[in-house]
Amino acid sequence: MTMVDTPERRQLRELTRAFVTKEVLPHLDDWERAGEVPRSLHETAAKIGLLGIGFPESVGGSGGDLLDSLLVTEEIIRSGGSSGLIAALFTHGIALPHMVASHDDGLIERYVRPTLAGTMIGALAITEPDGGSDVAGIRTCARRDGDHYVVNGSKTYITSGARSDFVTTAVCTDFPGSGSLSLLVIEKGLPGFTVGRRLEKLGWHCSDTAELSFVDVRVPVTNRVGPEDTGFLAIMQQFATERLSLATQAYATAQRCVELATRWCRDRSTFGRPLASRQLVRHRLAEMHTRAEAARAYVHDVAERVVAGQPVVTEVAMAKNVAVAACDAVVDAALQLHGGFGYLRDAEVERHYRDARILGIGGGTTEIMNEIIAKGMGL
Ligand SMILES: Cc1cc2nc3c(=O)[nH]c(=O)nc-3n(C[C@H](O)[C@H](O)[C@H](O)COP(=O)(O)OP(=O)(O)OC[C@H]3O[C@@H](n4cnc5c(N)ncnc54)[C@H](O)[C@@H]3O)c2cc1C
Repeated sequence: MTMVDTPERRQLRELTRAFVTKEVLPHLDDWERAGEVPRSLHETAAKIGLLGIGFPESVGGSGGDLLDSLLVTEEIIRSGGSSGLIAALFTHGIALPHMVASHDDGLIERYVRPTLAGTMIGALAITEPDGGSDVAGIRTCARRDGDHYVVNGSKTYITSGARSDFVTTAVCTDFPGSGSLSLLVIEKGLPGFTVGRRLEKLGWHCSDTAELSFVDVRVPVTNRVGPEDTGFLAIMQQFATERLSLATQAYATAQRCVELATRWCRDRSTFGRPLASRQLVRHRLAEMHTRAEAARAYVHDVAERVVAGQPVVTEVAMAKNVAVAACDAVVDAALQLHGGFGYLRDAEVERHYRDARILGIGGGTTEIMNEIIAKGMGL
């Protein structure tokens, strides 16, 4: 695998692993109960350069490309972290890229740099109560009024929505549902911008998720990302990164669950013999390992092609679906192999089982990925 072959990447793995061991594992259960990760974690991750991986140094990042940021994602989960932790700590991975791509110095100074320094938290708000899959159907509207936009509408299921200082928000700059979208960076504290209740979820408990409401919120025109009406394209362009991140979370969760289940099956004896001594169990573990490895190889292949600038929209969708399907099958089998213990909060596999369910929903559902794949097939 080319991804691990450089000394820098080995170092990055070690850095990530040490961060998880020291800064995350002792506290993760508390954060799961609290429903959020502390702000101080962002600063700690920024100080060691982890938060800025995948962002250029010219905007306050640590450098590296998509493969490096996927490597961090993979290593966090393989070290005992979780996809929920990644959703909470790396929300900037979806909130900032449009701003970076716009080369807007004002936005980069005010939002990108402080976020990569761990002193601000950003979120991305696309989904609305009326629907998330149909991005062009967005109804939250921004009406131009001099130097400002006046924003009305609501968003839901927004990751880090409760803690964030600003929200990169998809708005319609024409009439509701027209598909002419723009992205506006909307700051917390502006009159008319309220954060609704925190949403309780099946998994991702350490990641806060919120509803947002905008009533006549006046947002400076300078907070628009790129030219008007380019929002839809900008969102679609950045989806590749988000989808590959989710695919990485999926295969890494599968890998971690294979490891947990293998350890368990070696240690646990039934009817006087370790579970792992039974052929049925060994074959089950072998199949789980194979699925996780095949997903990993395919996701890496597609990620490398994205970095090489190849047009791989269809392949990104396939990578997400392949990895999510592998993850779903593996977490279920891993929990089953743990028996009753697998169903308890004390078992790490229980958390992965709950956390994994979102991966086929967020960033475009499995069905929407299939639509993209079908289109790519000319159907
Ligand atoms: C924990 C969590 C975190 C999230 N974080 C964010 C975030 O940070 N920012 C953000 O903007 N959104 C976020 N989301 C929203 C997420 O992206 C959406 O839930 C997702 O895109 C699906 O949209 P929806 O829920 O409106 O489902 P719908 O679009 O209503 O779809 C419902 C079902 O119908 C299927 N479906 C829809 N259209 C078709 C079709 N044409 N053909 C066949 N089947 C179809 C879907 O696949 C799905 O199974 C988050 C969601 C969750 C649960």
